[in-house]
Amino acid sequence: MTSSTPVQDPGVVGHVVGGRRVDDADRHGPVHDPSTGRVTGRVALASAADVDAAVAAALAAFPGWSRTGLSRRVEILFAFHELLRSHRDEIAHLVSAEHGKVVSDAQGEVARALENVEFAAGIPHLLKGGFSQQVSTGVDVHEVRQPLGVMAGITPFNFPFMVPLWMIPTAIACGNTFVLKPSERDPSASLLVARLLSEAGLPDGVVNVVQGDRVAVDRLLEHPDVAAVSFVGSTPVARHVYETGTRHGKRVQALGGAKNHLVVLPDAELDAAADAAVSAGYGSAGERCMAISVVVAVGDVADALVEAIRVRVLGLVVGPGNDPASQMGPLITAEHRDRVAARVGSALEEGARLVVDGRDGPPVGPGPGGEDTSGGFFLRPSLVDHVRPEHTVYREEVFGPVLSVVRVEAFDDALRLVNENPYGNGAAIFTRDGGAARRFEVEAQAGMIGVNVPIPVPVGYYSFGGWKGSLFGDSHMYGPEGIHFATRTKVVTSRWPDPATSSIDLGFPRTR
Ligand code: NAD
Repeated sequence: MTSSTPVQDPGVVGHVVGGRRVDDADRHGPVHDPSTGRVTGRVALASAADVDAAVAAALAAFPGWSRTGLSRRVEILFAFHELLRSHRDEIAHLVSAEHGKVVSDAQGEVARALENVEFAAGIPHLLKGGFSQQVSTGVDVHEVRQPLGVMAGITPFNFPFMVPLWMIPTAIACGNTFVLKPSERDPSASLLVARLLSEAGLPDGVVNVVQGDRVAVDRLLEHPDVAAVSFVGSTPVARHVYETGTRHGKRVQALGGAKNHLVVLPDAELDAAADAAVSAGYGSAGERCMAISVVVAVGDVADALVEAIRVRVLGLVVGPGNDPASQMGPLITAEHRDRVAARVGSALEEGARLVVDGRDGPPVGPGPGGEDTSGGFFLRPSLVDHVRPEHTVYREEVFGPVLSVVRVEAFDDALRLVNENPYGNGAAIFTRDGGAARRFEVEAQAGMIGVNVPIPVPVGYYSFGGWKGSLFGDSHMYGPEGIHFATRTKVVTSRWPDPATSSIDLGFPRTR
């Protein structure tokens, strides 16, 4: 670390190491309000030495925390849950101010985080192992789950509050300590997570935060004292994290990008399917890993469906995230907005039909406080029809407010499209045919399936994760698989013999 003195600069979003704020850094990056385009702060970009200090703090906290009784851990999680509820508005406004999503959408992040805390608060039950009495004469066997040590979490910009809380509750409930490396684009939510955990009674050093970029990530991946890494972000970085982390002997779960299809069969309820496509396609400006980016229109449903979606898209209200009237906010950066707009242009050039061109349209009006939004990173929603699998807009993860429609003749064509896609996060089907829905459920190659549900994010007591290029590693995140990822098992075989029966036996131990 460049200085061990705790410094607090109001314009700087810094680290939290061993319970202390450290804002000192050699490098900084800008933090924007995407709704205005203004720079609102600077984020410290950690050096390898800063990461080492955070890992050292987590390592020092591990012996005490891993021995802390389960009831005390639960008590802290309950207190944290209460704090999340009472700070819901503050959290949502903070997320909106740096991410740009509308405040009501940001409140959804808190709701999902609450579920993960609720699940983790069941830890006394979740850590119970198996017990077998009398496996041999006087011999019993039991299994325990023990924490791994220091775990690291590396998170994306699109859910700056929720994704850290996919990881932290299960990790610490199991007795691990944690180093979080949040996205440098919207870093402040991580400090709020750390503050509320501390207010809930979590001892210093159990959860640490290092702000930064790939320098911090790469140090975490190589650090000998980091036992496991949870990552959520784009597929190329997920692959890098998985390959580098496992090469350094770590347990890694790395969740990547997505291209989620919504298959609409001819018998589907058309209005419900159109509502779902618009909600799941343009919510959070399409910057969700579970966003629908491709509508697969099967058979003769296509014309009516595209028209129903078009009408709805034209009615969407785009505006600053803090305006209660806005349904969709800006994108995260000007560069990302330009990249998404270029994808819309490429679709047109490659032969698709632009039904709604989001690059057109009036400028967004001022914010509720009269804020000038002319420099904001806005892009209105686009709807592209007659997209084909070879088009760039189909092949790449756009991660913006662009919905592609691929027209196919039959259910089998739709299923093949889903299964041949290199991503496999979520996939949904809208139909009234139970047989078709069941076949989709069984045969679609994706980790999360929706039946008449466009965004099938698992509740906190199941686990979240995709297949194929959407997940590197074996474990999905949070829920039961989160507990498995955050612990390792130990099997204890024990005998309490009567000294009178003891004898020497050089044979291999046998149970019969
Ligand atoms: P990103 O991959 O650019 O960044 C994710 C994290 O990795 C950040 O903390 C960032 O600082 C770090 N990082 C970026 N480049 C790196 C590099 N070259 N080396 C090491 N670390 C690096 O992702 P993003 O733009 O923040 O988030 C959007 C992406 O995340 C989308 O692809 C989206 O689909 C994906 N995502 C996936 C899920 C899921 O559950 N599968 C959930 C949310 C987001």
